[in-house]
Amino acid sequence: MTNRRVADTHPAPDVVIIGAGVIGAAVAYELSRRGLSTLSLDALPSAGYGSTSNSSAIVRFSYSTLTGVSMAWEGLHYWRDWRGYLGLSGREPTPDLAELVTCGMLLLDTPSGHAAKVVPLFDELQIPYEHWDAAGVEKRLPLLDARVMGPPAPVDSDAFWAEPGESLAGGVWMPDAGYVDDPQLASRNLAQAAQALGARFLFHATVVDVRQRGGRVIGVTLADGSVIDAPVVVNVAGPHSGRVNELAGLAGTMAIGTRPMRQEVHHLPSPVGPDGRGLDVLVADDDTGIYFKPEAGAMVAVGSLEPACDELEWLDSPDDYRPTVSTAGWERQTLRLARRVPELRIPNRPLGIVGIYDVADDWIPIYDRTDLDGFYVAIGSSGNQFKNAPFAAHAMAELIVAVEAGHDHEARPVTVRGPYTGAQLDLGFFSRNRPINRHSSFSVNG
Ligand SMILES: Cc1cc2nc3c(=O)[nH]c(=O)nc-3n(C[C@H](O)[C@H](O)[C@H](O)COP(=O)(O)OP(=O)(O)OC[C@H]3O[C@@H](n4cnc5c(N)ncnc54)[C@H](O)[C@@H]3O)c2cc1C
Repeated sequence: MTNRRVADTHPAPDVVIIGAGVIGAAVAYELSRRGLSTLSLDALPSAGYGSTSNSSAIVRFSYSTLTGVSMAWEGLHYWRDWRGYLGLSGREPTPDLAELVTCGMLLLDTPSGHAAKVVPLFDELQIPYEHWDAAGVEKRLPLLDARVMGPPAPVDSDAFWAEPGESLAGGVWMPDAGYVDDPQLASRNLAQAAQALGARFLFHATVVDVRQRGGRVIGVTLADGSVIDAPVVVNVAGPHSGRVNELAGLAGTMAIGTRPMRQEVHHLPSPVGPDGRGLDVLVADDDTGIYFKPEAGAMVAVGSLEPACDELEWLDSPDDYRPTVSTAGWERQTLRLARRVPELRIPNRPLGIVGIYDVADDWIPIYDRTDLDGFYVAIGSSGNQFKNAPFAAHAMAELIVAVEAGHDHEARPVTVRGPYTGAQLDLGFFSRNRPINRHSSFSVNG
């Protein structure tokens, strides 16, 4: 294999971005908006083909920390203003755009206490919500049985089949929550917006080495032997984040680690309630350990909230896992949904997707510089950062510009302001060297 220098044919970029998922593509766009030349490298054929392609893409605000809630609330506004954010004036031919479907979300008020935890945060940030009691839940969503069924238990245990207890305390209704209808298309929209500003994307391009000299990154090498020079490199490699950090010689240099975790999300037909409606809203149910969302074609998708009784599927390698849904996973999640939604009919044949989370030790992402000068990370998105991708990218761009201009981020963490709601983010919260955040839910709830 001959080494060829991509810079011989193209000018060397200011920044190489490893990964063109929704966060990586957004980083390319935000850096391009600041006048930096970027080259995005991705092993896959197009933007958003990695873990983003399997995302449930739910836009909710029910995080366990004030920063988490504030970031997600700001994140919503990017999706509401998608066309404007992408810089489309309305005069040019309309590209195919991802869309935010605002259907509302009910966070069941369960004994686990997550709803009680988020309500004061909503109050502090003036995020609209309503409290429904159990009768109100069943009136508005007649397909739901609003009685206590938890704590979550394995489906082959007696506890799982026990008669439901008294009524739940009700639920917290977030009218502004929803989901993005096509997460892969959203990534392509971001990549195209970046390209319109001069950003370059190279697909089928696997980074196999992060080159450095004298404690500073100087570029990357691709699997085909190409050598690319760049003074700044950003790791946005999703579930491969740990691998890419190893390539940069950074294994063991961060207090917070990341690990790939396998996830199944199952799809089945939605029942129709007495009011003629299917399951057309989002529901988070810590009492049975699941979340569910409307899916195209009168279907419902059901995913896990990682209840304590379930064994999590940690992977040694993000490339080595069973890519099809398992019978055990299908039974676990569909039976849990059937407890909450008694009208549900479960097909014999399992249907769904397998996705990979890039989980940080405390399920809160790492948006930071590293011990290698010029090498940055937007990693550990823990199954909950799709909604935040544009705002996280804004934060990464501000961080990179500030640190490259000489700012000491370790001594005085960079703060950024959300352009829509004025949300203030202290990036020290996302530090690679933070102590484990004990306020986290240690689940996809963040
Ligand atoms: C099943 C599932 C459900 C989810 N549901 C939600 C949700 O409801 N709401 C929410 O907010 N978030 C959700 N998420 C999380 C969200 O989708 C992710 O946080 C987000 O998509 C991560 O984007 P990314 O760009 O960091 O990573 P990815 O999309 O994984 O992109 C990383 C890219 O890096 C590339 N890459 C890796 N290594 C290399 C290399 N060495 N060389 C070149 N390229 C490389 C990969 O090919 C890949 O395309 C969910 C995730 C999953 C898996």
